[in-house]
Amino acid sequence: MTTATLPTLKSIAPVSRAVLRPVDPGNDASCAHCDEPVKFAARQQRRQVIANVYSDGRWNRVEHYHEDCYGAAGAPHGAPAAASEATARRRAG
Ligand SMILES: [Zn+2]
Repeated sequence: MTTATLPTLKSIAPVSRAVLRPVDPGNDASCAHCDEPVKFAARQQRRQVIANVYSDGRWNRVEHYHEDCYGAAGAPHGAPAAASEATARRRAG
């Protein structure tokens, strides 16, 4: 018995994605990999990976990673896109 496979309309589900950003002062998130706080440090240009995690096509949560930890975790949400325009803009004054 053969079953004809109908072409299924795949709804385009949003997928988890990650972006690389500078750590903001006052950031109090914990790293999803090492569980240490992702803290702003004035002397170091620290960066974090922020991942929007989708589950079953729905936004589920945001995960924060140290830049290094994200790589150590094997980039679970794909290669982080560098934040482009946000960092290019600077406020005068
Ligand atoms: Zn970490």
